[in-house]
Amino acid sequence: MLTAIVGINWGDEGKGRMVDLLSKDFDIVCRYQGGNNAGHTVINERGKFILNLLPSGILREGVVCVMGPGMVVDIRHLAGEMARLREAGIRITPENLKISDRAVITMPYNVAQDCLEEERLADKKFGSTKRGIAPVYADKYLKKAFRMGELLDPERLKKRLPDIVEWKNLTLVGAYGAKPVTVEEMFEYFRTYGEPLKEYICDVGLYLNEAHKAGKNIMLEAQLGALRDIDYGIYPYTSSSNNLAAYGPIGAGVPNLKMDKTIGIMKAYSSCVGEGPFTAEYFGEKAEKLRTAGGEYGAATGRPRRVGPFDAVASKYGVRCQGADEIALTKLDILSGYEELEVCVGYELDGKILTEFPFPNVLEDCKPVFKKLKGWNCDISKCRRAADLPQEAIDYIRFIEKACECRVRYVSVGAERDAYVEL
Ligand code: GDP
Repeated sequence: MLTAIVGINWGDEGKGRMVDLLSKDFDIVCRYQGGNNAGHTVINERGKFILNLLPSGILREGVVCVMGPGMVVDIRHLAGEMARLREAGIRITPENLKISDRAVITMPYNVAQDCLEEERLADKKFGSTKRGIAPVYADKYLKKAFRMGELLDPERLKKRLPDIVEWKNLTLVGAYGAKPVTVEEMFEYFRTYGEPLKEYICDVGLYLNEAHKAGKNIMLEAQLGALRDIDYGIYPYTSSSNNLAAYGPIGAGVPNLKMDKTIGIMKAYSSCVGEGPFTAEYFGEKAEKLRTAGGEYGAATGRPRRVGPFDAVASKYGVRCQGADEIALTKLDILSGYEELEVCVGYELDGKILTEFPFPNVLEDCKPVFKKLKGWNCDISKCRRAADLPQEAIDYIRFIEKACECRVRYVSVGAERDAYVEL
């Protein structure tokens, strides 16, 4: 079985937490896109962990984690992340972590480029996480990137390096007036951080196909959400990769396999990091209250997130793009204590009400149309069965199912592993 767990919204839906919960039924968890711009927060009996590159399954004994060919890997960051987890007692060996030889290496100059470009843009900046993600994906498509498998053959790698360093310096020095990088520094980067990873690097497609044949349960874990997909999201305020479930098998190394199920992670309200249009956005006190209650600060960057009520227009589009079979609704507990809950049911544009998500260039001019639903005035964080939930919370869930044309199967009511209700 191949199951994708993907984000329906703008990211930060609580995917890490749901993957951690659902991974109990899986033998393998594979990340198929993105890099260390992800920040998955997981709280379980072993502590609180923030994962940027490693699949969330790494926290479960017996689960094998795979970093797929669709990923970009900052090997220095990975070394730090592995060291932190090991300090917390998490076992990481070539038996439970496999890194695709085709995954692309994020270079220090990609991170530098990302920072230089944000500085150049100044007040027009994109809100990049400055982890080098856009530059390294650009290099990939320009065919100037290095891949993990090259670390296994340093002699050949050494031969490719000078031409690429020369080419990259044209940009660093010529376009930005920055310091050039040297072949020696870059080779040292590969040596220092690549050498310890060698035994983890393999053809993950081969491994996954064998596992699939043997009847193993494989989960594909996405980073970010549908609205950040480079092709289907709010371009140009997207990430630089495809996070949609349909891309999962390609990014995981198994383009021959078909997805059996897609679980869409959706937040009970909206949050969005960085710049770009965010139609249902709250401001002022309303925003502050929701942000504080939800702890909406970026896991990777600590930046305060923009927040708003549940957006049915964007979420329905997210469900469609992901082809979600069922929804896991997160953070419903955060909405407790409101007399009434607003939800965004339309976008007003030039006097018309849109109920389908538009081509993104008009989003800046869209105004949210809110509808009010009844809130619930009690703490739901201890609820573990549908019958424990107040009727208003059930009605809220039913509204979402209807608006998004998709069944809500799980409702998370707390960050801890067991704080959820299965409907
Ligand atoms: P991800 O990137 O999609 O994994 O999302 P983040 O990790 O950035 O955000 C999820 C945050 O909300 C983390 O701090 C989680 O521990 C927390 N969280 C997840 N689900 C719930 C929930 O149902 N209730 C509460 N109160 N917190 C949650």
